[in-house]
Amino acid sequence: MNHVSPTHDYDALVIGAGFAGIAAATQLAALGRKVKVLERHDHPGGRARVFHEQGFTFDMGPSWYWMPDVFEAYFAKFGSDVNRELDLVRLDPSYTVWFKDGPVNIAANLETLKATFDSMEPGAGAKLQEFLDEAEVKYKIGMNNFVRKPAHSIMEFATWETFQHSTKLTLLKSFSAHARSFFTDERLLQIIEFPVLFLGAKPEKTPALYSLMNYADTVLGTWYPMGGMHEIVRAMVRVAEKNGVEFQYNSDVAKITDNGKTVSGVRLQSGATISAKSVIAGADYHHVEQTLLSSKWRRYDEDYWEKRVMSPSSLLFYVGVNKRVPNLQHHNLFFDTPFGPHAETIYDSKTWPEDPLFYVSAPSTTDSGVAPEGFENLFFLIPLAPGLDENPGQRDAYFEEMCDRLERQIGMDIRPHIVYKRGYAHREFQEDYRAFKGNAYGLANTIKQTAFWKPKMKSKLPGLYFTGQLTTPGPGVPPSLISGEVAGMEAHEWMNANI
Ligand SMILES: Cc1cc2nc3c(=O)[nH]c(=O)nc-3n(C[C@H](O)[C@H](O)[C@H](O)COP(=O)(O)OP(=O)(O)OC[C@H]3O[C@@H](n4cnc5c(N)ncnc54)[C@H](O)[C@@H]3O)c2cc1C
Repeated sequence: MNHVSPTHDYDALVIGAGFAGIAAATQLAALGRKVKVLERHDHPGGRARVFHEQGFTFDMGPSWYWMPDVFEAYFAKFGSDVNRELDLVRLDPSYTVWFKDGPVNIAANLETLKATFDSMEPGAGAKLQEFLDEAEVKYKIGMNNFVRKPAHSIMEFATWETFQHSTKLTLLKSFSAHARSFFTDERLLQIIEFPVLFLGAKPEKTPALYSLMNYADTVLGTWYPMGGMHEIVRAMVRVAEKNGVEFQYNSDVAKITDNGKTVSGVRLQSGATISAKSVIAGADYHHVEQTLLSSKWRRYDEDYWEKRVMSPSSLLFYVGVNKRVPNLQHHNLFFDTPFGPHAETIYDSKTWPEDPLFYVSAPSTTDSGVAPEGFENLFFLIPLAPGLDENPGQRDAYFEEMCDRLERQIGMDIRPHIVYKRGYAHREFQEDYRAFKGNAYGLANTIKQTAFWKPKMKSKLPGLYFTGQLTTPGPGVPPSLISGEVAGMEAHEWMNANI
């Protein structure tokens, strides 16, 4: 069925070519809608953009390919196949955690991993199995019953199924207490708590529900698309275009227009206007509501946003090194300092940390195509409180500290071999994505910011929908894809009912 309207340029306009925007557009096009995506940058991907420098290919944001089932379902739904679109390899080890006394590999094979756990705490291998069996139940309930709901109202969740599953979801217990009921060794606790740390809040503030992430990373595996994470974006754009989506880059939306009753389109910074029956905003929620939308249609004010708990921002470095660094694995977590004081600076005092934990990805250890031959491509990340001001020289001081610790751990100098280095933090997140307080991953996954307690997908302005990591279901690449699909369905149904 083709819904093209004689009175509008498009059925739907999508603001932003991040994962959520592309997914929303593809969903609408697959339903027969005429859709255009407007993106302010010159290429798609949003926080997962890419840049090329001196023979290196640097992924700018996400590096962990988790929840392969979500990508599989996505490409199948829109007439393709994930294995045709992406050359996926499962990483083994999934990742390596560097403690003060040396590295621990998190093996892809569960039996090997259980043996590692046993060597660190007697009986912890069997406990890990128990922990993961429980996490699997949560993952399956979450994915099958909750994650694809638009979360307009609490009533969507007030079903018999939710009631039946409620105790298994451990919504009221904290992640921290849950992990401590299985393990006592501090290193094991850090390993178990890691997936929630980087994307959310303190484990004490995160519901135990999120142990489903441990199932995702340990059992479903940590994967990598050859060519880099941006290959996912390229594949999604290919599939979107095959479904009929149009992309217009270098197009900064300045205003969402309305006819007094419903949304009517957008005006670009260039002054050009485009009309549409509906608009889906995949750009950051705060930016869209506070800047692009007339005040009468705003659901939230600045005070509301000030009270949100944001996920961390990050200090990033993209680094090219003119030799191989054989002791590094693809994903390396440097947990050689205690997390407590670092977490306190992110979530409580909102200050710069001393001796922070950090993460280093070396994708060229898996994929020789992302660095010149014999060179290594490194990505450094320190999670930081959002909204921090930066002093001159601060970035470089952190870089030096990370290098000191990394070189000590791997027993090799890298600094004399650096041929390229670029830093990226709050300021750039704000400039590039209009990110509220320079956040990297949207809102923290606290209980009060889950499902219908998140900023609403449906705007007060009829026909306008929000999608992406600041609305349901939340931050991360797979949730952003799902968010786009759900918002696309919602906009389609709204058009069916109203225009
Ligand atoms: C450093 C970092 C590491 C991460 N690591 C991982 C990971 O390993 N695994 C994982 O699953 N997730 C990870 N994430 C999270 C994941 O990348 C995000 O949740 C996801 O990319 C968000 O997608 P989105 O579509 O919601 O938003 P975005 O990617 O931010 O897309 C929004 C788009 O809107 C555009 N835009 C903004 N304003 C306008 C305007 N006015 N007009 C037109 N266009 C506009 C922006 O340019 C952008 O392209 C990471 C994020 C960061 C920053």
